[in-house]
Amino acid sequence: MRITVIGTGYVGLVTGICLADNGNDVIGYDIDSRKIESLQAGKLPIYEPGLSDLLQANVEAKRIHFTPDPKQAVEHGQVIFLAVGTPPKPDGSADLSAVEAVVNEISRFVTEPKILAIKSTVPIGTGDHLQAMLDKSGRPVTVVSNPEFLKEGSALDDFLRPDRVIIGAEARQAGEIVRGLYLPFVRNQKPILLMSRRAAEMTKYAANAFLAMRISFINEIAGMCEKLNVDIDEVRLGIGSDTRIGHHFLYPGPGYGGSCLPKDVQALAYLARCQGAQPELIETVHRVNERQKNVLFQKIVERFGPGLAGKKIAVWGVTFKARTDDIRESAALRLIDHLLTAQAQVVAHDPEGLENLARQYGQRLRYEADTYAALQAADALVIVTEWNRFRSPDFGRMRALMRSPIIFDGRNLYDQAQMQAEGFEYHSIGRPSIRPAT
Ligand code: NAD
Repeated sequence: MRITVIGTGYVGLVTGICLADNGNDVIGYDIDSRKIESLQAGKLPIYEPGLSDLLQANVEAKRIHFTPDPKQAVEHGQVIFLAVGTPPKPDGSADLSAVEAVVNEISRFVTEPKILAIKSTVPIGTGDHLQAMLDKSGRPVTVVSNPEFLKEGSALDDFLRPDRVIIGAEARQAGEIVRGLYLPFVRNQKPILLMSRRAAEMTKYAANAFLAMRISFINEIAGMCEKLNVDIDEVRLGIGSDTRIGHHFLYPGPGYGGSCLPKDVQALAYLARCQGAQPELIETVHRVNERQKNVLFQKIVERFGPGLAGKKIAVWGVTFKARTDDIRESAALRLIDHLLTAQAQVVAHDPEGLENLARQYGQRLRYEADTYAALQAADALVIVTEWNRFRSPDFGRMRALMRSPIIFDGRNLYDQAQMQAEGFEYHSIGRPSIRPAT
């Protein structure tokens, strides 16, 4: 089938490349011409494991093309996937200006019947609104909601083997056409759920709010564990082993970030308030997370005092999670802001996120590509992201490099007894702090 993908970010690229790999004839369009130039040269503008090779294979096989021309893009696809950003506005609501701009482009260029599948996360009722815009322009376009559930870092696997596919359609035939595109990905009998457009939009928000709730829940319990001298990891295993609860999204940490959970939780709460509902639980999930994002800095202040002038703090991991270069809403940004305000000297290290970080912070901190060089003469190390390379480091080498062997671990990567034996002072989340053995 001829497919168009509008918005070649994390979601649009994964969607387009996976559909091309299945034999569809795909064209990708983005308003950012530098992205398109890079993609036309076969170069991926983001980091996502496995995606670069799959892009190259499909470019070579001429199953995917990229264009800076919206007319060419709109005319190409029988199905047009819309995957532009829906960032938060200051009041928490979703900014739909990019989505509406795309729909305006579509109504300029469409001449024959097409399906517009909305992959962007949009407030409940947006599909109805976009359908009304298109109907008013007289263009034969049917709007279908097709929210995306991939996770950055394992996006290919998530798209190729989804737990479920959600398709929200008012017109049955349009829903069936989109369903047909996904059949090759659900040969393992995972469901494709056809529902109303509004239910599909709500499913996406409800799923993200639930995942965020689990994270805020375990972070709140972790805070209690610290006060009550209990090890959160024992509790996490204890509750996660209950099959009604399970282990997913129950890891204490520095607060959730990324381009989805923070904005989607706020957008759902905003939408609910506008309709006169009382989203108390959802608002609390957000508040707990906002507080959690300060936890690592609070621990540093408890240890060193409020002024950090003359202190050199190394930060390992700046992306919001491992296996991505995405730093949007990362807890590391909040930490770095606090550290800079307290006049600490900050050295940041991350396997993939430093370019994006430097774009935001410029000369205000140091960027170190080497994991160990970042520790040179550091007064403390703070671990914010759970990259594999941080899990079993050479502790002897770390101790030798650091001015003082103090670690603040936002991901509970290390065994406390081992840290004590290795001679570290070790602070983690929801577990008692450890002083070196004397
Ligand atoms: P992104 O910021 O990586 O990519 C969005 C792209 O859209 C950018 O390349 C931007 O240049 C382009 N764009 C903006 N306005 C445009 C316009 N008028 N015409 C053409 N292109 C335009 O965003 P993303 O992370 O891929 O997210 C896209 C949507 O999918 C969001 O609504 C997000 O909430 C949702 N989503 C994201 C993820 C994720 O893990 N990133 C997962 C599920 C759903």
